[in-house]
Amino acid sequence: MLSFLLPRSAQSLRVVSQPAASGWAIPEYSRRFASHEADLVVIGSGPGGYVAAIKAAQLGMKTVCIEKNATYGGTCLNVGCIPSKALLNNSHYYHMAKKDFENRGIEVDNVRLNLGKLMQSKEKAVTALTGGIAMLFKNNKVTGLKGHGKITGANEVSVLGPDGSTTETVSTKNILIATGSEVTPFPGIEVDEEVIVSSTGALKLAKVPEKMVLIGAGVIGLELGSVWSRLGSEVTAVEFLTSIGGVGIDGEMTKTFQRILTKQGLKFKLGTKVTSAVRNGDTVTVSVETVKDGKKEELQCDALLVCVGRRPYTTNLGLEELGIERDDKGRIPVNSRFQSVVPSIYAIGDCIHGPMLAHKAEDEGIICVEGIAGGAVHIDYNCVPSVVYTHPEVAWVGKNEEDLKAEGVEYKVGKFPFAANSRAKTNDDTDGLVKVLADKHTDRLLGAHIIGPGAGELINEAALAMEYGASCEDIARVCHAHPTCSEAFREANLAAFSGKAINFS
Ligand SMILES: Cc1cc2nc3c(=O)[nH]c(=O)nc-3n(C[C@H](O)[C@H](O)[C@H](O)COP(=O)(O)OP(=O)(O)OC[C@H]3O[C@@H](n4cnc5c(N)ncnc54)[C@H](O)[C@@H]3O)c2cc1C
Repeated sequence: MLSFLLPRSAQSLRVVSQPAASGWAIPEYSRRFASHEADLVVIGSGPGGYVAAIKAAQLGMKTVCIEKNATYGGTCLNVGCIPSKALLNNSHYYHMAKKDFENRGIEVDNVRLNLGKLMQSKEKAVTALTGGIAMLFKNNKVTGLKGHGKITGANEVSVLGPDGSTTETVSTKNILIATGSEVTPFPGIEVDEEVIVSSTGALKLAKVPEKMVLIGAGVIGLELGSVWSRLGSEVTAVEFLTSIGGVGIDGEMTKTFQRILTKQGLKFKLGTKVTSAVRNGDTVTVSVETVKDGKKEELQCDALLVCVGRRPYTTNLGLEELGIERDDKGRIPVNSRFQSVVPSIYAIGDCIHGPMLAHKAEDEGIICVEGIAGGAVHIDYNCVPSVVYTHPEVAWVGKNEEDLKAEGVEYKVGKFPFAANSRAKTNDDTDGLVKVLADKHTDRLLGAHIIGPGAGELINEAALAMEYGASCEDIARVCHAHPTCSEAFREANLAAFSGKAINFS
């Protein structure tokens, strides 16, 4: 059944049961399912799991990766980062063609949306990338097994078929849980993935809704809200908090971000909670009320996106039987080597502490298996960047002003607006700014916050600088190519270091 996934080398895994055709007498207990031996079994093939599996194989471990979905890649590749970025990119092109090209001297008549093709383009990216993992497994001699992985001992994982019966067992030295997360439900609102949708349904709506309501104005809501707004929906985000953008965003930047999105047509009801949502045929009545004074209102829409966050997924993993408890948020507690209370069982990615981000899961996967192989294990969560892929993009790494105030750190600020950056001006794409925060006494970069064109790329320069403990002067003295948007990052550092940028009056 799984032979297409098994590279030649995988046949060297010790198969305890033999096919009946071999003519061997097969003991009753092993006839039911195949059994392998491995150094590491990874459960889940998201960005945490598949990267860890490949790294482990490259380090010489006999590695098995178990995935319950039909395709590899987890949330990120199937229903997360990749499809959402495909829709964001192409809806941006559509918006540009319809609303912006003319100002640039490009006249295109009759710009129309072909939603089916837009979705096909997204699917093409997803299929290519998920299929690519199967190829990477093959090339790196990772044995992929399809089914639900359940830990049935400190050194044993069983693979369950759709009916819950065991199809294979794997004896293994170590186990790595990379089972990720799932959409957090909203109490009392049933997601049907047609009219009342989660992020998964919002990636494949059959038509452009006239009115869309978002419950939650965090990263996922703002990205998908932007997609449908560009394609023609009137989008209203209802957010319990009084700011948008989710955890970690700087207070000043969130205000700028909201102003820019409002200019683009998104509406916000902040400090407001949803109390119920009732579907009547193809429409939904959403009841909301202000947090402060309980003022009630009803919103009508033909698509309601429930995006209040994600929660760790550890269903039927066998944790209870092994005495592995979860914390109050459902996460698996691990030590600094990603080890659970059972020393042979490790966990990484969305199912443990820290931001739910694909690159965080990947990094943890790599260093976790390096640790299993005897290497050092170190990750600085302060240097993990966050990006919102709207236009302009919003990105940050390290501390924001509110963090530094709360921690009593004396800091200085350097800012540079994209309106004064030559590349942004050339491209007529000047919304946003770079803001850096540095230690007042040592000049060390403590945080970087960017709203602007390509912020998701620029932020990696800040992450690199922070990983190496750079000062703002260090960054300001690095020659940056001209004309580029990254010059704005250099100028902001110069402003923090010397009190004044060069290209800003
Ligand atoms: C709409 C959306 C957009 C996003 N955009 C971004 C973005 O731009 N950038 C970013 O960094 N992050 C983004 N994220 C978050 C990102 O997708 C996750 O942080 C990331 O996928 C977590 O990786 P993971 O490996 O921990 O888990 P997952 O990707 O969730 O993978 C877990 C895998 O384990 C499998 N599994 C679970 N239990 C079992 C079991 N018992 N047996 C076998 N298999 C099992 C699941 O089927 C799944 O394939 C986005 C998320 C969403 C929903």
